[in-house]
Amino acid sequence: MQQLALRWKSLGVKVGFVPTMGYLHAGHLSLVREARQRVGKRGVVVVSIYVNPTQFAPTEDLAKYPRDLKRDLKLCRAEGADVIFTPSDVEMYPGKAAGYYSTYVVEETLGRVMEGASRPTHFRGVTTVVAKLFNIVLPDVSVFGQKDFQQAAIIQRMVADLNFPVKIVIAPTHREADGLAMSSRNKFLDAEQRSQAVILSHALQAAKAAVAKKSISAAKLKSDLQAFFTAAPLGHLDYVEFFDPKTLQPVTQVKRGAQMALAVYFGKTRLIDNAQL
Ligand code: AMP
Repeated sequence: MQQLALRWKSLGVKVGFVPTMGYLHAGHLSLVREARQRVGKRGVVVVSIYVNPTQFAPTEDLAKYPRDLKRDLKLCRAEGADVIFTPSDVEMYPGKAAGYYSTYVVEETLGRVMEGASRPTHFRGVTTVVAKLFNIVLPDVSVFGQKDFQQAAIIQRMVADLNFPVKIVIAPTHREADGLAMSSRNKFLDAEQRSQAVILSHALQAAKAAVAKKSISAAKLKSDLQAFFTAAPLGHLDYVEFFDPKTLQPVTQVKRGAQMALAVYFGKTRLIDNAQL
């Protein structure tokens, strides 16, 4: 893959890159379209499909994470992606099992809150694998989803801090008809959980409406939303936060333009969503 990328570089071919963990849905495909837009017909679009073990904690769903490479390849082809990069664990982390892998990329500020607080080793795995993928694919542009808002902010920070010569594009969240953000993990929801999962986007809408005309204290808005969640008894709120979209620092007073993010468990399935209010 890297040799191919070096060859593209020498020929002046622009490279657009969409890193994913596969089990693709319309949200992923919108990123592929965005990448194509950015590099044009003469550029190449690379999609990576790799379920990265270092971003899963031992207690998390690495083994169970949904996979369907055949279907993914079909979807990528139909969307006009040029190269699908599907490395194995041994290729990505050679020597890891034998203890010969010891270099990680750690962003030290933005990754401490929200997802980082709930999943302490998660972002270290994400920044490490994305840095590795950037060094392998050598993209000019890489597209990430707003669905993983904190992840996108951390990648942008990593790229700025470590001088990666890549432009990061953040694409909007693709949703099901009822508002549920598309996610590979939605397939784990049973019918009852699926119908209640719409509470995440409803909560974002409710908060948006609540701050449309006046600001509200974060504490009051949180307690209002906790009450709101009684409408989805199968959901267990992991966190809801209000913060500055640039710094990710929590705000005590929530006004229009603040970012809201939340994580909710339905059984063992953990769903996240976010929006600017
Ligand atoms: P994943 O396969 O979950 O690691 O996601 C790969 C990329 O797709 C990440 O940049 C995600 O933020 C993005 N993504 C996931 N779900 C959506 C969605 N519903 N809409 C837009 N982008 C998404």
